[in-house]
Amino acid sequence: MRVGVLALQGDFREHVAILDSIGVEGIEVRTPEELQSVEALVIPGGESTTIGRLASLYGLIDPLREAAADGMPMLGTCAGMIFLASGTVEHEQPQLGVLDAVVRRNAFGRQVDSFEAMLDVEGFDEPMHAVFIRAPWIAKVGGGVDVLASVEDDSGVHPVLVRQDRILATSFHPELTGDTRLHRMLVGLVESH
Ligand code: GLN
Repeated sequence: MRVGVLALQGDFREHVAILDSIGVEGIEVRTPEELQSVEALVIPGGESTTIGRLASLYGLIDPLREAAADGMPMLGTCAGMIFLASGTVEHEQPQLGVLDAVVRRNAFGRQVDSFEAMLDVEGFDEPMHAVFIRAPWIAKVGGGVDVLASVEDDSGVHPVLVRQDRILATSFHPELTGDTRLHRMLVGLVESH
């Protein structure tokens, strides 16, 4: 199976390595043609405004929306989650709008710029070691979005892992801990498609 990783900016190489480690071919995607050659897509962490601008420049916004509408499974991590979503609570920026959710960027504030947590994830037997790096959280979800994991702080409970049909999005970086369960889930979505 060929699984693409959007390779415009960010830590796409780590995702390619994880995919290779679970026996699927990880393909760097930078063009609409490369997108057409894969069965699922990972959108990595990095800087979401940069990813969005480069995606516009490379003519990828509409092809990505069409791929999602055609049911291509996608996994967005951190900046990738922001790019999949329909809005941010801050400024307008290029987003795909294929995940019915509004995100808050850099939501955990400066004091906890980066942190790690053991997260309970719905459907997983063991908790997930999650690394958050200037991470967003989800401020508002639409009706068709399932929250699979959340983080709680003084201001409330904040979704950090969600699923809407074949779209998965995480605030944290599963590619940095060697935990392959979310990448396997993505592959499972292709197989059940
Ligand atoms: N803070 C970044 C953004 O808003 C996301 C950080 C990340 O992907 N690790 O785009």
